[in-house]
Amino acid sequence: MSIMYKSTRSSSEKVTASQAILKGLAEDGGLFVPDSIPALDIPLNRLPSLSYQETAYEVMKLFLSDFTEDELKACIQGAYDDKFDTKEIAPLVKKDGAFYLELFHGKTIAFKDMALSILPYLMTTSAKKNGVTNEIVILTATSGDTGKAALAGFADVPGTSIIVFYPKDGVSPIQEKQMLTQKGANTNVVGIIGNFDDAQTGVKKMFGSAELAQRMGQKGYQFSSANSINIGRLVPQIVYYVWAYGRLLKQGEIKEGEPINVVVPTGNFGNILAAYYAKNMGIPIQMLFCASNENKVLFDFFETGTYDRKREFILTTSPSMDILISSNLERLIYRIAGEDAAKTKELMDALADRGEYEITPEMREGLSCFAGGYATEDETAGMIRSMYEREQYIMDPHTAVAAHVYEAKGRECGTAAVIASTASPYKFTRSVTDAIDNEKYGNLGDFELVDELNRLSGVPIPAAIEEIRTAPVLHHTVCDKSEMQAAVEKILGL
Ligand SMILES: *Cc1c(COP(=O)(O)O)cnc(C)c1O
Repeated sequence: MSIMYKSTRSSSEKVTASQAILKGLAEDGGLFVPDSIPALDIPLNRLPSLSYQETAYEVMKLFLSDFTEDELKACIQGAYDDKFDTKEIAPLVKKDGAFYLELFHGKTIAFKDMALSILPYLMTTSAKKNGVTNEIVILTATSGDTGKAALAGFADVPGTSIIVFYPKDGVSPIQEKQMLTQKGANTNVVGIIGNFDDAQTGVKKMFGSAELAQRMGQKGYQFSSANSINIGRLVPQIVYYVWAYGRLLKQGEIKEGEPINVVVPTGNFGNILAAYYAKNMGIPIQMLFCASNENKVLFDFFETGTYDRKREFILTTSPSMDILISSNLERLIYRIAGEDAAKTKELMDALADRGEYEITPEMREGLSCFAGGYATEDETAGMIRSMYEREQYIMDPHTAVAAHVYEAKGRECGTAAVIASTASPYKFTRSVTDAIDNEKYGNLGDFELVDELNRLSGVPIPAAIEEIRTAPVLHHTVCDKSEMQAAVEKILGL
């Protein structure tokens, strides 16, 4: 069966998977969605015998139906190789009765590597398939982790260049250093005076500008996106939920067909949406717990049916979840609206114009498999500390937000729970050591804390951290949030 993609905001445009990957965002500003969600076509009892790469093929072939078997397998082999520090790619570890799906074993030690290791392959294959000769400019807004993972993935990939915008004061020191030391002649990093929502809004605006697209075209450029608005990001993320179910079977923790729950620390709603797609493909996922930090706009949405971004933007110790406009929620809205593009557009316009929208009671019924939860800063730190004390297992603050929500809401139902563990604690040394013992570690520098963390956890220091200790800063551009387009024009010489 061939899957085509259409926009969440109009029913006219239909494109192939490779075209959707190239475009990133639909022309009407909507997000591309598959015209149906394909069912997994292998039985669940085969999952335990598959490698991560084989699982990836079984899932991705269904969504990327215009890729040939050879093309897709080449993409998968190129992506999931020894760039990951474990053969399993995404190990599932049991701690204190829950299953932590460690998604941070890639090159930049955040879960973004799971999709951004393969996106450059999908992108260049898509360009070839569609006869694109323009240079593809990857325009990306990051709340901290996407930026580095996308830079690492696209650095020196022929036919592409990449421009990353990040909130200058909204990322961890290690996240910032990771980005600013990125090598590669085709890489550009710009700090903005503004927050992640400003960066994402600015990027989406450039995508939507026909005038800019035309000037780009004259110079031989076209935009695409490495954000989770790109289905080339979303589809590879479905894989690890299917994989996790196979691991639970293989490890004898569940029986075939037994339901599981997932708990996902959420920002832009890409990761948890991938879990929802896995559920719709036939993986027996019962409940999806959407875990937020103090920017709990999603928690309120699941509680009330009203999405209201008109509130203070709070900087937290889980910066990759400091988001008030969760882009991928639009794909869920579209689905629970019965794939009604006009309705989806109406709600998204209300969000842009009035800062809020309310869904109908019928739509709310479609959310019955979701539950929202959140952790305050104290609860997050408390979770890091208590897990360390019980299991000597050190979580990063994003994972700790999810673990807290699991303890508060998920554990009591007794269903096996997979908690998405989205970053290595080495990316957030300051917050993690503060949580464990602020008095002892408060005066140490960021890289001294790396060594402390190594002593505390016994986990080897990842190459991603060793690399940046002494690496020179190569990117220095900072601009106001209102000057993003000017920055792009300067970089591209438009
Ligand atoms: C991006 C990110 C998240 C949020 O994921 P979304 O797909 O945006 O919801 C959570 N944790 C970490 C460490 C991240 O990098």
